[in-house]
Amino acid sequence: MSLFTREMPCQELVELVTAYFDGSLSRRDRRRFRAHISGCDHCTAYVEQMRVMIEATGSLREEDIPAAAREELLAAFRGWREGLET
Ligand SMILES: [Zn+2]
Repeated sequence: MSLFTREMPCQELVELVTAYFDGSLSRRDRRRFRAHISGCDHCTAYVEQMRVMIEATGSLREEDIPAAAREELLAAFRGWREGLET
């Protein structure tokens, strides 16, 4: 356990997904990102969905993700997390 392997929460992954795809993540965050999706089915599905969207549109910017969809997703993540803790 160290600061360098601190787990990335789902919420942070959602925030970083556009940076991941445009290559602007730091090497360390990229590693944390990959480590997270390797152990989280929900984020794997989300990232896959984003990848398909990027392939369809040719690009993805922060503003291309509808705010409502983002909110919905973050709410869903909170639900999953609460589900795990109870
Ligand atoms: Zn996750």
